[in-house]
Amino acid sequence: MAILEEPVKGVPKIKNYVDGEWVESKGEVMDVVNPLTCETIAQVGISTREEIDDAIQAAKEAYVDWRRTPPVARCRYLLRLGQLLEENFEELSRVQTQEHGKTIDESRGETRRGIENVEVACGIPTLMQGASAEDIASGIDEYLMRVPLGVFGIISPFNFPFMIPLWSAPYAVATGNTVVIKPTEQCPISQSKLAELVDEAGFPPGVWNVVNGEKTVVNGMLEHPDIKGITFVGSTPTGRDVIFPKCGATGKRSIVQCGASNMMVVMPDCNVRGTVPALMTSFFGNAGQRCLAGQNLIVVGEDDGFYNEFMEAVTATAKEIIIGNGLDESVQMGPVKDVQKKERILGYIESGLKDGATLRLDGRKPNVVGGYPDTCFLGPTIMENVRPEMRVVTEEIFGPTMGVIRAKDLDEAIQICNDNPYHNADAIFTSSGKDARKFQYEVNCGSIGINIGIVAPMAFFPFSGMSGSFYGILHTQGKEAVRFFTESKVCIHRWI
Ligand code: NAD
Repeated sequence: MAILEEPVKGVPKIKNYVDGEWVESKGEVMDVVNPLTCETIAQVGISTREEIDDAIQAAKEAYVDWRRTPPVARCRYLLRLGQLLEENFEELSRVQTQEHGKTIDESRGETRRGIENVEVACGIPTLMQGASAEDIASGIDEYLMRVPLGVFGIISPFNFPFMIPLWSAPYAVATGNTVVIKPTEQCPISQSKLAELVDEAGFPPGVWNVVNGEKTVVNGMLEHPDIKGITFVGSTPTGRDVIFPKCGATGKRSIVQCGASNMMVVMPDCNVRGTVPALMTSFFGNAGQRCLAGQNLIVVGEDDGFYNEFMEAVTATAKEIIIGNGLDESVQMGPVKDVQKKERILGYIESGLKDGATLRLDGRKPNVVGGYPDTCFLGPTIMENVRPEMRVVTEEIFGPTMGVIRAKDLDEAIQICNDNPYHNADAIFTSSGKDARKFQYEVNCGSIGINIGIVAPMAFFPFSGMSGSFYGILHTQGKEAVRFFTESKVCIHRWI
């Protein structure tokens, strides 16, 4: 295989997958653009209300038999899907790089994390077991069953187009529900490829549906009485202001995972050699387009000597990051997804400078290897003299930027973390167990890293987040997803 081989050829029209059939959308058509070359690589239909209604109806009808299929038999479909995902691992990863821009290594990581959720969901015969108690009163027994609910909607963001629907869908179908997935309209090809493998795995028609589109499809799900619940992953404004309230108003259960402005806290006793590379992946991996990415670096202590030496090491390493075509194995950072996103990030850099930050490393005119246009590219950008109240801290930037804040001690650093409106994933770098324990105990956020810069929970742990970054109770992945996709049914019986 040639190193730069692109799996998506021509300009395919991405279809919906409904009731086991590939259907061309009747809606308007939108271009899917490769941010590396700015060329259109596919087109996707923006589906209509009628089309989402049809998919929900198909999923509702499929639920009748699927719910009665024994969990162990449902699992066999997932086992076949897992096998097909392995067989197509490289192609699936390359598609992500082509439609999103991330490096092939990052895409392979995304594919792997997606597959792991399919694997964990294969444990459903055990995972969805209930509980029982004999003789709750004389001669009376009680038991609890976990039962599916019906049709679920899955709405996903652009930054992990393949993996994120897999935080939900395998658990939803394994527990006996049926799903309608609305992929991100910006990178819809990955979900289309996944649906091809779902089809090949032989899932009964209507169990797994994909409807492409934008707000009309989302609103169609939110307003439809047959949608029992929604899992949403995306930005805070969409999740907090649209999805969560509408689910409440229409009586749907929801998992709403949102944006972030994560803090990486560096103590003077950290292991610098291990910390600097971890920070590079945290801040600049996936071009900063991760809900787990570091956005703010808090350097603790009043010792200018440590600060200067540490920042020297961080800046020198960031400068060396190779930017270019993500399919080139030697490239470490690809473009951001589109020009609008680049403009938004540039706007934040300007706002930081206006508020008094200074540039230690300016990535606004990056050196892109391989002669590609720099239209969607930004290099690592490091801003110093950042203060916690600046917009570059209180709002999500979602790009390859690092804002450096100084804190006099760990208490102040923890306060800065807790005062931020987002609480997704914060981390501390230290060699002190005592400080690490204090941080883990006192920081109010969903995922905590100790000498780990990307706190990505494995599939058998919940993908957690807290206020500002999350609305709901249960999270996607693992046992919490199983709880979410099932209702507790309790039965008490006496034989007279
Ligand atoms: P987004 O909110 O713009 O879009 C997410 C989904 O919602 C898309 O499918 C989109 O079509 C739909 N949507 C957008 N606006 C809508 C509206 N007004 N009404 C109805 N539907 C709407 O998010 P994005 O830009 O695609 O993704 C990036 C965001 O996702 C970032 O904020 C990132 O932090 C977040 N994210 C969070 C997690 C997490 O687990 N917490 C994981 C990944 C990404």
